[in-house]
Amino acid sequence: MKLIFERSVKGRKAVELPKLDVPLQANLIPEEFIRQELDMPEVSELDVIRHYTALSRRNFGVDNGFYPLGSCTMKYNPKINEDMARLEGFSQLHPYAPEESSQGALQIIYELQQYLKEISGMDAFTLQPAAGSHGELTGIMIVKKYFESMNEKRTKILIPDSAHGTNPASATLCGFECVEIKSNSEGEIDLDDLKSKLTKDVAAIMITNPNTLGLFERRILDAAKLMHDNNSIVYMDGANLNAMLGIARPGDFGIDILHINLHKTFSTPHGGGGPGAGPVGVKKHLERFLPKPSVEVVDKKYRLNYNLPDSIGRVRAFYGNFGILVRAYTYIRSNGFEGIRAIGENSVLNANYLLAKLKKHYHVPYNRTCQHEFVLTDKYLSNDVSTNDVAKRLLDFGFYAPTIYFPLIVHGAIMIEPTETESKETLDAFAEVMIKIKEESVNDPEILKSAPLTTPVSRLDGVLAARKPILRYERTMALNEPTH
Ligand SMILES: *Cc1c(COP(=O)(O)O)cnc(C)c1O
Repeated sequence: MKLIFERSVKGRKAVELPKLDVPLQANLIPEEFIRQELDMPEVSELDVIRHYTALSRRNFGVDNGFYPLGSCTMKYNPKINEDMARLEGFSQLHPYAPEESSQGALQIIYELQQYLKEISGMDAFTLQPAAGSHGELTGIMIVKKYFESMNEKRTKILIPDSAHGTNPASATLCGFECVEIKSNSEGEIDLDDLKSKLTKDVAAIMITNPNTLGLFERRILDAAKLMHDNNSIVYMDGANLNAMLGIARPGDFGIDILHINLHKTFSTPHGGGGPGAGPVGVKKHLERFLPKPSVEVVDKKYRLNYNLPDSIGRVRAFYGNFGILVRAYTYIRSNGFEGIRAIGENSVLNANYLLAKLKKHYHVPYNRTCQHEFVLTDKYLSNDVSTNDVAKRLLDFGFYAPTIYFPLIVHGAIMIEPTETESKETLDAFAEVMIKIKEESVNDPEILKSAPLTTPVSRLDGVLAARKPILRYERTMALNEPTH
């Protein structure tokens, strides 16, 4: 497909401005302020529409196919969320508008915090962080500030070996040393290993529940008690809270700080990297450290409170990614109290239904009831093919690939998260294709190794793309001239 630059024809335009009706004065603009001609494509409106429509049709998204990307929760995003976020009162509101004229927006922020408190069992929330990893950073900054306020020097953070990579990254950014906790044979944190590493200089543990294997940490209460007896903090990565919505609350099982990914659990589009929102909830004793300003109700009016002397300060310009907050608010309100619990139940039911269909054909490392997702391995595949080949072949059948090679503790991991929004027919069709691919891996391994065969591009050099990305068009490239 041609680049938009390659469609350019000198002099072609998408707009026609009225003729100038003021006499042109020579030298009106001094020479040094006159712009050079920009190297931009010169195309008609139709060229632009056709070009970008064609590009969008080569793309894959939740709106055109099943997207079982584990840990990413690619659920369907109801369009009513988009309508609400686009209401002019929200989308055109200036972030510096005075409090009196932004009462509605502040009310949305305030009420969303109330809902998240109710759903999670935490005592206070900030909606400022712009992503899950940003929520982690905020949470660990609070951990740091908490121990500083007590004049205690604690330098370590415990992190299970199944954790998402952003956990150690956030802890390291805040200056902590990460100590790895092993998983046991059941895929849960090894409490003996935890005990052996729980020294007086441990500030916190970062735990994920359900963990990244899709398993509920059944001994979470014991783990939390061990930490609390050591005066350490229990942080939970709640990026994917789907499975426990309306059923279990982190605040009730010993969690002191929690982040939630609104763009995963509460349905906002997040393919391609954003924008997102990673609200952080804390228990009462940590509330005074939350970012400022907070949104409060004073005399029946919503107010921004900047007078929070112990706050870690701002973590984001303005009040967070407000459009995402409106979408999550709409999702919660439109599902209602019973709908929220149904999200939890159906996400678990869908994952277990698929697991039951696939476990005769693919090896399951931890064979028990899963939560909203589950992990398979490459053990039953023939030696000729890899997990990556299975993922690539799925694209030929119109399915997005699951998350692969994560969590790191599972060899050749295939991590599948169907989400609660998929029908039985879709799950059946996906299971059928997974089983067919398994058969192909034995009978026709070559087809797997050359897949995908039907997509606009086949196997790309992922390493080159990551190490030497070309992010800017240079006209020389179009003319096939050598580039540096
Ligand atoms: C997605 C995810 C994160 C990171 O969230 P971002 O919004 O991508 O920064 C952290 N932990 C877990 C378990 C996740 O699935």
